Amino acid sequence: MYINKLIKPNVYSLSAYEAKEIPCKIKLDANESPYGLSDKALSDLRSLKSQRLFTTLNKYPDPQANNLKKKASKYFGVRLEKILHGNGSDELIYYLITTFGGPVLYPVPTFSMYVIITQALGEEKIEIKLDERFDLNLEKILEAIKKEKPKLIFLSSPNNPTGNCFSTDKILRIIEITSEKSIVLVDEAYQPFASEKGFLPMLDDYKNLVILRTLSKVGLAGLRVGFLIADENIINQVNKVRLPFNINSLSQAIAAIALNDKRALKARIKYIVSERERLYEDMSKIRGIMPYPSEANFILFRVKDSDKAYNELLKRGILVRNMKGVVNGCLRVTVGTPEENRIFIDALKGIINKM
Ligand code: PMP
Repeated sequence: MYINKLIKPNVYSLSAYEAKEIPCKIKLDANESPYGLSDKALSDLRSLKSQRLFTTLNKYPDPQANNLKKKASKYFGVRLEKILHGNGSDELIYYLITTFGGPVLYPVPTFSMYVIITQALGEEKIEIKLDERFDLNLEKILEAIKKEKPKLIFLSSPNNPTGNCFSTDKILRIIEITSEKSIVLVDEAYQPFASEKGFLPMLDDYKNLVILRTLSKVGLAGLRVGFLIADENIINQVNKVRLPFNINSLSQAIAAIALNDKRALKARIKYIVSERERLYEDMSKIRGIMPYPSEANFILFRVKDSDKAYNELLKRGILVRNMKGVVNGCLRVTVGTPEENRIFIDALKGIINKM
């Protein structure tokens, strides 16, 4: 094919992010929330609908997403000037690498978009293996920082797919040692489910700290809304590469309404955390599998024949994520509703018993 010769080599050698729709009855593969908008948000949305939401679609959305950012500012307790809005946090990862370039350092295994976007933008990557407890290998990271001088360091904490938070002391050490030399992104996609406070309270102490948040894991994955939270100087620079109308009007309006109902969002998060604990306990009782403790809305687990277990679950209509090639021998299951979790546990027990 002649186009193969025209494509940039770094793009040609990329594998696309695997996000195909696999038919299933119970979808526990993508770390989504089992719960959507609250009743209050739905009713607020209905009154908005009759006013202007659908009658102004002939106009472009607010390029600055000011109303949405105001609500986000209140929700996260940070000044509006420190927030940049993205079409999902994926887009903000793209913008960060576009703005600063590489090398990009991140531990592995971690969220797969870090490598995909780094490579798509033709930047260099530095991958450092996590230690046997899935924590950061600080010694190796510090060594790489000294030798290879990464411009960006990506730390997903809690980490996807392992589910644990990295040690706060290690993250702080990295932020401190790289001050004025690298930008450290703490990707807090799963922070709402963690027992630790996260890094927002430390934002003013470190100018090279950037925090990534998303609404995708707390019930609004379909809207595609994420936020980059950082020092104003960083926000202003990254904002230069942002596409002007990156979040559509409907998503802006609905996300603003959802953020306004903080109580419902927090209640659902708390409920998912308690379900996660129950799911973990139930999984721990199944002989032949080994779940890893999680601070996120999913659980990584080791199973004898992971391919077979994955396929058998799918045969019963239950879709989980096969982590083959990322954490071999492991599957990752998202915390669902109590009913979904019960069906998953019963199916898993049956499958393991026959293996
Ligand atoms: N960061 C991490 C660690 C994730 O796991 C994900 C989603 N899988 C994202 C970012 C991207 O989330 P979104 O683009 O939906 O905001």
